[in-house]
Amino acid sequence: MRRPIAILAFAFLSLAPLAAQHAGVEPGLAAARLLEDLSLKAALASIPAAEPALLDEQAELTAIPAPPFKEEKRAEYFRRKFQEIGLKAVRIDKAGNVIGERPGASPRPRLVLAAHLDTVFPEGTDVTVRRDGAAMQAPGIADDGRGLAVLLGVARALDRGKVRTPGTITFVANVGEEGLGDLRGVKQLFNETLKGQVDAFVSIDGTGHGITNVAVGSHRYRVTFRGPGGHSFGAFGLVNPVHAAGRAVAGIADLQVPATPKVTFNVGRIGGGTSVNSIAHEAWFEIDLRSSDAAALSSIDASFHATVDRAVREENERWSSGRVEATVELVGDRPAGRTAEQSPIVQTAVAVNRALGLPVSLAEGSTDSNIPISLGIPAITVGGGGSGSGAHSMAERFDSTESWKGTQRVTALVFALAR
Ligand SMILES: [Zn+2]
Repeated sequence: MRRPIAILAFAFLSLAPLAAQHAGVEPGLAAARLLEDLSLKAALASIPAAEPALLDEQAELTAIPAPPFKEEKRAEYFRRKFQEIGLKAVRIDKAGNVIGERPGASPRPRLVLAAHLDTVFPEGTDVTVRRDGAAMQAPGIADDGRGLAVLLGVARALDRGKVRTPGTITFVANVGEEGLGDLRGVKQLFNETLKGQVDAFVSIDGTGHGITNVAVGSHRYRVTFRGPGGHSFGAFGLVNPVHAAGRAVAGIADLQVPATPKVTFNVGRIGGGTSVNSIAHEAWFEIDLRSSDAAALSSIDASFHATVDRAVREENERWSSGRVEATVELVGDRPAGRTAEQSPIVQTAVAVNRALGLPVSLAEGSTDSNIPISLGIPAITVGGGGSGSGAHSMAERFDSTESWKGTQRVTALVFALAR
């Protein structure tokens, strides 16, 4: 999920592809020249006619369930697609990431273009895609059904244009972006599978034409309250883990946060108990705390811990019988950080949007780019075009009106960065 932080007028900013920065060529001119490349022009021109089939594919892949930690079926679909397209060295790594290479004139620089396989929806969710004209509706149709479709669309467009790039493009359909997946796909990619071999990273996530260059960090916890448990009538007077969890959630709901830097908290899941007539022996909830500012993140983190401690104390003071205890387990840790607005990768993305007549907006978000950003590797997350609503809800929708512009934008961006 992204949030625009600025709609900027870029008239006076340099349009600086990486090559221009390195070669000392006047950046605006170099960008313009890149987009004048005949093979790229052919690739871009071929995209609108190919878009209807790509939308069919988007519907097809979205209808393959990919719950957290269970992305195998959709991964297998991508392995087949990568092979059909003719990517080289198609493989699935230890974490379940599907990887395929489009070799350039040399192995480096290597640009990774990724989209995430997983959805937030649990096993058994009805992922049937409903289509009505340009509208498509299904859980995961946009996040990241759109990004995954564009991954395939870009690979095919480059082939149709017979595009050759100086550097290599590695296509990745990765696991574990959402929720408790905790970016395990990209963590595997950068810590092992492609360790030390990635020069730039672009994730296609969701819709629109935004450019996410600020990595919102997050801490996620599972908090479990435990007590002796007993009969609701017979053991009345006993401490109650469900009540303790309720106290904690109520306290969290009242936490105060600054408007800037943005800081958020959300108790996203809660559960526990045995039956309506039992005093529970266990209750739990999961919370997500976020900010792009590391200090603000540790401040809300401290408030959260204090709130849990207070809830336990209050529940134990309320009743004389038994003791409630809480364990707080860190289940997600995403580093905060940013790719500078003036960096070549961001400036190139801006230049490409401008050249294609698309709006330019820089955004912050918690995405797969958090990991390369935290490692100092140039990285951004971009939208896949079209527009979306209701992400992470059963009513998730994708509006495919002029969505081919998204496929074009990412194709041009990849062309400009793979050098
Ligand atoms: Zn996503």
